Amino acid sequence: PSQYEGTGNWQAQVKGRIAIASSNVSIERNDSKCILCGQCIEVCKKVMSVYGSYELPLKKDIPCVNCGQCSLWCPTGAITEKNNITDVVKALEDQNKYVIVQTAPATKVALGEEFGMEPGSIVEGKQVAALRALGFDAVLDTCFSADLTIMEEAAEVLYRLKNVQNTLPQFTSCCPGWVKFCEYYYPDLLEHMSSCKSPQQMLGAVAKTYYATKMGINPANIVSVAIMPCTAKKAEAKRSEMNASGKEIGNEHMMDVDLVLTTRELARLIKLKQIDMTNLDNQEYDSILGESTGAGKIFGVTGGVTEAAVRTLYYYATKENPPASLLNWQEVRGLKGVKEATVDVPGFGTVKVAVCHGLKNARVILKQVREKKSPWQFIEFMACPGGCIGGGGQPKSAVPPTD
Ligand code: SF4
Repeated sequence: PSQYEGTGNWQAQVKGRIAIASSNVSIERNDSKCILCGQCIEVCKKVMSVYGSYELPLKKDIPCVNCGQCSLWCPTGAITEKNNITDVVKALEDQNKYVIVQTAPATKVALGEEFGMEPGSIVEGKQVAALRALGFDAVLDTCFSADLTIMEEAAEVLYRLKNVQNTLPQFTSCCPGWVKFCEYYYPDLLEHMSSCKSPQQMLGAVAKTYYATKMGINPANIVSVAIMPCTAKKAEAKRSEMNASGKEIGNEHMMDVDLVLTTRELARLIKLKQIDMTNLDNQEYDSILGESTGAGKIFGVTGGVTEAAVRTLYYYATKENPPASLLNWQEVRGLKGVKEATVDVPGFGTVKVAVCHGLKNARVILKQVREKKSPWQFIEFMACPGGCIGGGGQPKSAVPPTD
C-alpha cells in the first residue's frame, strides 16, 4: 500500500507536484529540490493520461505506470529514477559474482549525449568498451532477445489469425509501462495482450539458463544487470512472476534480471569511474547472446516492433521473404501519434495494424477495441512519446543540469 493510502492526505500531496509512493521502485522525489512547478503533473496528465484518470480517494496503490516521464520533465532534478548504481558497483566488486550486462537499442543512440556528443550519435561500440572497463564479465545485447520476441510475437499472431475464435487484435507486450496501464485501466482487454515477455526479461531468463549452462557457470552466482532507456523496466524486473531461471539450491526462485540502470545512471557510473568515454575504441558484444538483426535494433522507436513482427509474420505465413516495402515500412515510421497500415499476407488476406505511442493516444485506440470497432489485427503500444528513444531514463539534454 502507498504511503498516502487512508491518510486523507492525498489531495494535499498532489497539489503542484505528483505523488510518488515510497513503494515505487522506479522513481522517487526529493522534496527539497521541488519548486512546485507542476511539470510532472502536466506530462502525467496530458501526455500519459494517467494522473487524474482514477477516482479519489484512492482505494488502492497510486496508479503510477512507472514510465518515468515525470523524471524526464522535472526541471530541477527533484524527481529521479531510483538509484541502483551502488548495487551495481557492489556486485562488480564481489569476486564471487559473475556480472553480466545487457544493453537496450535506444541506449546506444542516446548515451553519447551525456558526454557532449550530437544527439543520435551511435555509441554502441564505445558503450561495450565502457562496460568492459567497468568490470562486467559479459556484455550481451538486448537486440538478441528483441529478435526472440519477434519470433514469438509473430508466431502468436499467426496462431490467432488462423482461427476466428481467437482473440484479435493482438497487443504488443514489450513495454512494461503500457502493460501496467492496461492492467490498471483496461483489465477487460488483457486477453488481447501477447503472452511474450519483454526483450529485457527474455534475455535475463536465457542468460541464467542457456548461457549459464554453455559457460559452465552456476546461475546462482550470476548478477544480471540491464541498461535501459526506461524506468518502468526497474519495476518490471521486480514483478514476482519474472523468475523463470529456476531456483537456487534450497532457496527461492532467482529473479531473471537483478538490477536495472537507466541510460542516465550508466553515464553517471562511467563518469564516477573516470572512464574517458569519448576516446574509447569501439568493441564488439560477446559472441554468445550478442548478435542480432536490424529488426531487433528498430525496437527502440515507435513502429519498430510492428515492422519487425510483420516481416516475420509474412515469412512464417508464406515461407518467403517479405517484400522490400516491409524492410522500410514508411507507414509505421515517424512520430505521428497513431499510425495505421495494411499488408497483404498471402493466405490471410489484408492484415491491418495500428501503432501508437504516448498513453493518451493508447486510450483512443483502446476505446475502439473496447467497443468492438477495431479494424486491426495487430496493435503496437509504447508508453513513452516516440517509443523507447523518448524513454523516462534517457538523457535530459534540453534541461539545465542541477547536480
Ligand atoms: Fe520503457 Fe520504452 Fe515503454 Fe517507455 S516506451 S516505458 S522506455 S519500454
